[in-house]
Amino acid sequence: MSVKRDPRYDVLFDTVEIGPVTAPNRFYQVPHCNGMGRMFPDSMISMRGMKAEGGWGIVTTEQCDFHPTGDVQPFTETSMWDDSDLPYLVAMVDAVHEHDALAGIELVHNGQDSGCLYSREVPIGPEHRPVTWHQHPIQARAMSRDDIRNYRRWHRKAALRARQAGFDIVVVYAGHDGTVPSHFLSRQSNQRSDEYGGSLENRLRLYRELIEETKEAVGDTMGVVARFAVDEMMGADGLEWAGEGKEAIEMLAELPDMWDVNVSDWENDSMTSRFAQEGYQEEYISFVKSVTSKPVAAVGRYTSPDTMVSAIRRGVVDMIGAARPSIADPFLPAKIKAGRPEDIRECIGCNVCAAWNNLSAPSRCTQNPTMGEEWRRGWHPETIAPKESDSTVLIIGAGPAGLEAALGLGKRGYDVILAEAGTETGGRVTRESRLPGLNAWARVRDYRLGQIECLSNVQMYLESEMDAGQIQEFGADAVALATGAFWRNDGVGRSIRFPVPGCQALTPDDIMDGKRPHQPGSAVTVYDDDHYYMASVIAEQLVSEGYRVTLATPGMCVASWTEYTLEQRHIEKRLLNMGVEILTRHELSAVEAGGLRLANTLTGDTREHEGSAVSVTARLPRDELYDALKGKIPVRRIGDCFGPSIIAAAVYEGHRYAREFDAEIDPDGVPFNRTRYELQH
Ligand code: ADP
Ligand code: SF4
Repeated sequence: MSVKRDPRYDVLFDTVEIGPVTAPNRFYQVPHCNGMGRMFPDSMISMRGMKAEGGWGIVTTEQCDFHPTGDVQPFTETSMWDDSDLPYLVAMVDAVHEHDALAGIELVHNGQDSGCLYSREVPIGPEHRPVTWHQHPIQARAMSRDDIRNYRRWHRKAALRARQAGFDIVVVYAGHDGTVPSHFLSRQSNQRSDEYGGSLENRLRLYRELIEETKEAVGDTMGVVARFAVDEMMGADGLEWAGEGKEAIEMLAELPDMWDVNVSDWENDSMTSRFAQEGYQEEYISFVKSVTSKPVAAVGRYTSPDTMVSAIRRGVVDMIGAARPSIADPFLPAKIKAGRPEDIRECIGCNVCAAWNNLSAPSRCTQNPTMGEEWRRGWHPETIAPKESDSTVLIIGAGPAGLEAALGLGKRGYDVILAEAGTETGGRVTRESRLPGLNAWARVRDYRLGQIECLSNVQMYLESEMDAGQIQEFGADAVALATGAFWRNDGVGRSIRFPVPGCQALTPDDIMDGKRPHQPGSAVTVYDDDHYYMASVIAEQLVSEGYRVTLATPGMCVASWTEYTLEQRHIEKRLLNMGVEILTRHELSAVEAGGLRLANTLTGDTREHEGSAVSVTARLPRDELYDALKGKIPVRRIGDCFGPSIIAAAVYEGHRYAREFDAEIDPDGVPFNRTRYELQH
């Protein structure tokens, strides 16, 4: 049956002229980091090629450093320091061109942000100041006029090299408070007294020169895009969209071939769904089209074609920019084009992708288990091999792991029975999506349910708690246990290795089940040795119900791991604004009637807290069924039941189970491809 596209969406498939090149549609995969880049180039090349195959009209690199003084080690980005870096970039261009998309490159020098840990060059910036990333004890030195001339030459050479590599678009980048031109633009970073400091015109001078020189060098054949943050999100202390942000765009309005606008810094640009909704940047960037005749692109975690069309019709943007939505679903444009928008795997805005990049590892995605596995494992996000036997598979538990395994096996053609004890599907994502700010996480369930409903060979049964006897009796050819995990209540976690005396605290499971400590208005200490999001959302929930909440943690700040998901500052600010008392470097030492004791992790000094405790420390797998069944029937554990982890890991494990079903896996082998480096010895 052929499905006809809703004509409302036709506008998304208009071509857009960007200087001398033409984008085949309005879908622009903006530069985004991915933890692959120069370190895992084969993975990066296939990941970008996949997006072109999925219909993105422009596919760009992540930031591409063009000089050793801008070395960003340990971050894994692309680099183009000289011609020897060209081959992998040429391969990426080819992978993008193969599907008739335009290939873009973002030229970046991180200036005072980079520590130059590998190159050992002295970092550079508008003025003498300590480098920002990781608080390295290293300073960037103030650029002289000669340095500025050199820098401009490096940038120009990089543009020419990009053309040599075959790129169609070059992005000149002054965003995220992360590049030399943005540092020159920012009053916070630039208090120079020469022609590159002081007035806006002076602070913008370097950026203008870069765009002019890039146009002059390659503008006859390449589209020159200005990627620019219109607001530093620090009020009058920084660039504001209604002030200097707007004036800056007015000054350069017709210079680039396209504007790609956003807000600064990265934590404000790539907000999670907990802190910002789809299209959240519109209030800052919607003026841009009124001051330039050039096409305008912007991001905002757009996943709904209706919202995209609306942004175009309302004159906010010409191109739909996307990083995360293109990671969650590389085939988003193709699905809209084919009249299948309901098949879009919508980004949930969790920033797990950003976290892995920030950890210098290949990005993974909660929604898209094939992200980064396109070459490494040969996984295509939309296709999966047909079944190799007539096996019937019984899956126990319809959380993210069980749903993904059922979907993958179902698409392969296996007969699948999915048994869920509860009254609803989704497991932990359904439960957690009811906590403050996590509503969008239900998309993990909704996408999979929607797809499974189309598969007649997958049968799902709710309120079907299975015990070992019933599972054996069922007689399936294979059984996957996706029964999840539960939070422990004895305080054991990273910091405390033995149960805390007297501790039978409430856990996140209890809170999600509706149990509450004493009466609203009473004191509660949420003890966080998990360091991710959970303790902070539980704290938010309890404050909203009237409890007086302390968040105590052995960590050095609240939710310290969310530094990687770009959320830490937002979380701590929200908790402080809600009146949550924050106590760092403290671990739980005892729980007694009416109170608890916390000890300083360094001095051992203790303090008493009245009220009750909610303990957020660690989880244990719900795997009793495995113990009862192993050796008797073919049974595997997947997801949290095998190893409690993040939701992305449960989805991945469910997917992997489906992919590898009936395959012979060598337990001693490396289960994926690796890029081989050629030694120079
Ligand atoms: P994961 O993240 O690994 O998918 P979840 O905790 O989200 O794990 O989901 C596990 C699901 O398994 C829950 O919905 C739970 O109700 C279900 N479940 C647990 N034990 C059984 C059982 N014996 N029979 C059927 N369903 C079960
Ligand atoms: Fe979206 Fe999360 Fe996937 Fe990133 S990891 S693309 S935020 S769903």
